[in-house]
Amino acid sequence: MLELTKTEIDINKAGTAMYELIAELYPFCRSITGNGVRQTLKSLQKHIPIIINEVPSGTKAFDWEVPREWNISDAYIKNSRGEKIISFNNSNLHVLNYSIPVNKKVSLRELRNHVFTLPDRPEWIPYRTSYYQENWGFCMTHSQFESLADDTYEVFIDSTLTEGSLTYGEYYIKGEKEDEILISTHVCHPSLCNDNLSGIAVSAFLAKMLGKQKLKYSYRFLFIPGTIGSIVWLSKNEKKVYKIKHGLVATLLGDDSDFTYKKSRRGNAEIDMAAEHYLKSAKIPYKIIDFIPYGYDERQYCSPGFNLPVGCLTRKPHGEFPEYHTSADNMDFVKPYRLAESLSVYLEILNILENNVSYVNLNPNCEPQLGKRGLYDKIGGTNQTQILQLAALWILNMSDGKNSLLDISVKSGIEFSIIKKSADALYACDLLKEHS
Ligand code: ZN
Repeated sequence: MLELTKTEIDINKAGTAMYELIAELYPFCRSITGNGVRQTLKSLQKHIPIIINEVPSGTKAFDWEVPREWNISDAYIKNSRGEKIISFNNSNLHVLNYSIPVNKKVSLRELRNHVFTLPDRPEWIPYRTSYYQENWGFCMTHSQFESLADDTYEVFIDSTLTEGSLTYGEYYIKGEKEDEILISTHVCHPSLCNDNLSGIAVSAFLAKMLGKQKLKYSYRFLFIPGTIGSIVWLSKNEKKVYKIKHGLVATLLGDDSDFTYKKSRRGNAEIDMAAEHYLKSAKIPYKIIDFIPYGYDERQYCSPGFNLPVGCLTRKPHGEFPEYHTSADNMDFVKPYRLAESLSVYLEILNILENNVSYVNLNPNCEPQLGKRGLYDKIGGTNQTQILQLAALWILNMSDGKNSLLDISVKSGIEFSIIKKSADALYACDLLKEHS
């Protein structure tokens, strides 16, 4: 059995390391293009050998086009006394992401048309973007907004929108088979931790761990800007996506809430079964939701032309927590042990996929006599003996080449690791052969 899972201690160490990685990436001003993404991918290269790809502005990708590249070096609002009341240096969330440059004096009335706040959360700064519509703007706390005096304000955004490129990272790990497992995470959010530095950190550490293992599947990790990144990647790799047999969109993995698995559009893909079976049998609090055409990049992977078996494994889902897309999604909102727990759940689900095979019972006419084949010696003597024996009966009965070990686990309600252990013992007694 390929053993992907690491010891408890390694996982916990990884929790701290992932948290440190998030702290390193937190200040970068990421967007769907620009130097923030490049800086992020370069940091990840210290952990895994990511290939950084650049796709020029104007490149067509299905119904879309790579936009001009956005970069920003400074931004502020000054009052008439020359005091900076908002500074990009304090938080990159203060600037409407993808703002066009601006340098002028405006009345309070005009300024108000370009300020975004959260009246319900007066102490938080919202995160807002304007990728495909030219605009400039600032985000601030509602309480600061309320306190703005009638004055003339200097608004300054030192940004550029130029013919450049869209940057994404790709890391491919070659396994025994050409068949691939895709792990995709978005890298376009600025100083926001759960959405999505947690996804970046868990994906990077997962890749780091898998890179050291002997694997059945090949793995492809994508670190891409949301929406446009997956559309661009799919358009460049249209002919190769048939190799993707399973996939997960990794995001929202560092907060305290329970897990949520959003099924692939197919709804009954092996990844859907593996994720649900693992969460259920490990008694980890979770919720399963059916595919819906909004959320993250699973929207593109599961668009009808591709319909890939890609689910999305998060904790609290997209948009369903108050801190979502606000300054409160910060370093306090994510926890090292939650990141570690998420990493471990990903590893366990992949472990099921790596070990899921279909067998054929070589003694299908009535039950084989297990004692005389030494099976009880192979599975006896542990506190799992009874459950392993029960698992053996399930495996022998269902192994007609049509049911995988995961199918048997789901049907019997016996956890996959037990089914696998019992199948190994039956295989060693020449009672099973792998179904080709
Ligand atoms: Zn988001």
